[in-house]
Amino acid sequence: MKNKDKDMNEIINHLKTFGFVFQSSEIYGGLSNTWDYGPLGILLINNIKKNWWKKFITLESKNVGFDSKVILNSKVWQSSGHLQNFADPLIENKINNKRYRADHIYEEITNQNSSSLTDKELENWIKENVKEYDNSKTDWTEIKHFNLMFKTAQGVVEQTKNQLYLRPETAQGIFINFNNVQRAMRLKLPFGIGQIGKSFRNEVTPGNFIFRTREFEQMELEYFTFPNDDENAYKYYVEKSKNFILDLGINKESIRLRIHSEDELAHYAKATTDIEFEFPFGWGELMGIANRTDFDLKAHNKFSDIELKYFDQESNQTIIPYVIEPSVGVDRLMLAIIVDSFCIEQIDQKDSRIIMKLDYKLCPYKVCVLPLVKAQSLQSKKIMEYLNENDIETNFDESGSIGKRYRRQDAIGTFWCITYDYDSDIDNSVTIRNRDTMKQERIKIDQIIDYINKNSNTK
Ligand code: ATP
Repeated sequence: MKNKDKDMNEIINHLKTFGFVFQSSEIYGGLSNTWDYGPLGILLINNIKKNWWKKFITLESKNVGFDSKVILNSKVWQSSGHLQNFADPLIENKINNKRYRADHIYEEITNQNSSSLTDKELENWIKENVKEYDNSKTDWTEIKHFNLMFKTAQGVVEQTKNQLYLRPETAQGIFINFNNVQRAMRLKLPFGIGQIGKSFRNEVTPGNFIFRTREFEQMELEYFTFPNDDENAYKYYVEKSKNFILDLGINKESIRLRIHSEDELAHYAKATTDIEFEFPFGWGELMGIANRTDFDLKAHNKFSDIELKYFDQESNQTIIPYVIEPSVGVDRLMLAIIVDSFCIEQIDQKDSRIIMKLDYKLCPYKVCVLPLVKAQSLQSKKIMEYLNENDIETNFDESGSIGKRYRRQDAIGTFWCITYDYDSDIDNSVTIRNRDTMKQERIKIDQIIDYINKNSNTK
């Protein structure tokens, strides 16, 4: 089944039923476009983050990790240009009183990028061509710019002097610490600094479930390199990012690479490639890889008291490094993984099953141990504990028929089911069932870990 033929509402209901995602603040009527992650959702998210960290930090010996704060000195956002430029063009339809992103309307209708148009040109085009939109007649306002940063204040006095912002990206927290990290870790160019953390954007049109929310999490790497080696590093990280996505088990037909045209590039970027994913609601950006040049370090050098720079001993020169940034949203990636893995499989003429064909390393539970009857609970729980102690996330289910329990585990993506039965006490063996093939094998209890490691994709 293709992603575009999958039913988003069915997927959302499934995620609620099985404890992946809940509407946030539900008992108070919810908060629009805000979602909480349940016990299975957080296990999936942790596995996604673990894998990103392994691929972008641990296995890249030149890269290190970091964790900066959500609220930074507001001069950071002045220097980075976010205070002036981080705004979306907003247009309102006076008939239905709804607000829209003007660029999105244009792009949706023409299938062309709008960045070469001025606000006035965009506004005129919409006024002339879009007489009906979103099931409503239209009477458009002027385009206004709306800064996406959430404002807050620190301390007891709420003065404009104290105006602070929730970060809209994690990257700036890394840039402003460039000297600290480079010196403390004695890093030689090129090297990367990566971080996973929350970002906040007061999006004009959030929606499509967790695709676009106002609070979300990002995984960003800022890879600092010599200015004349930026293009190689950029190519390397485009390829690496694509492989990272595919290694998570996402089908290659579900993604495509989109290179930004010159007139579409952000003001700080020399080149950008988006990795797009086909969601049930259409293609959307999943991950972006940008060559940010020396824009950010230079911007901070202009406004701060300390210069961010690198002394290259070999050439005896001071350098402002170029930055390659692969950036991906955790929530959006989780949605892509869920959509891609969700399927309804016909077993025979009258029976079907819902299955989340998650890659082994992402499964919230790798294994579920099922005692055939409740009297075997104790022995089964011992197996569960043993596997959990060995870092194989395992749960336990003793209620309902074995067939129903298998279905439940298929529906949450559990890779292996282990059934403890009447013979297990005698032959020290259990039956292990594979989620995808439904094939079962009898194996010795002391060989479970070897069996799982041999037959699962643990990379
Ligand atoms: P978009 O065009 O979808 O608004 P963007 O180009 O502004 O995204 P970036 O600033 O490049 O996004 O952010 C990097 C990544 O962070 C995106 O590829 C996406 O995965 C994620 N992301 C950005 N905004 C949101 C959001 N509002 N909700 C969830 N994830 C987001």
